[in-house]
Amino acid sequence: MHKCDDHRKCIDDAIAKAEFVCKDRGLRFTEIRRSILKLIWKNHKPSKAYDLLAEISRMDYSAKPPTVYRALDFLLANGFIHKINTLNAYVPCTHTLKHNQCYFIICDKCDQVQECCDDAITETIKRTLSSNRFSHKDIALEISGSCDDCL
Ligand SMILES: [Zn+2]
Ligand SMILES: [Zn+2]
Repeated sequence: MHKCDDHRKCIDDAIAKAEFVCKDRGLRFTEIRRSILKLIWKNHKPSKAYDLLAEISRMDYSAKPPTVYRALDFLLANGFIHKINTLNAYVPCTHTLKHNQCYFIICDKCDQVQECCDDAITETIKRTLSSNRFSHKDIALEISGSCDDCL
């Protein structure tokens, strides 16, 4: 997913940030929301909903699919995770608290996804949208190809 020296610390930091954001916005960071965010961070590849479901049911939850989907919706709506449409899978947001519109570069071979930010791209897209009088709901930019390790 992304390279770091100590992934356990990465996960802890991400959970702590999510906790802070939830408190700040008056949202409940329930056990299931926390567990799913943790799982998505733990996976080094984008997580599919059914894999998360299987993992959650292996833990001692009696969580039913709608509960898991609702938790995913919550995490998406609050920007803790992103959905990669071309893979139909979820990745953790690596830009929590300093978020802007991001785009994703996705390796076809190893499924590594990297989150990138570039305000100039967002500005260009917004200009195009407004000149077409198009009201956008979501900007999802995904670029596929090969990462350095897989070249
Ligand atoms: Zn993000
Ligand atoms: Zn790769």
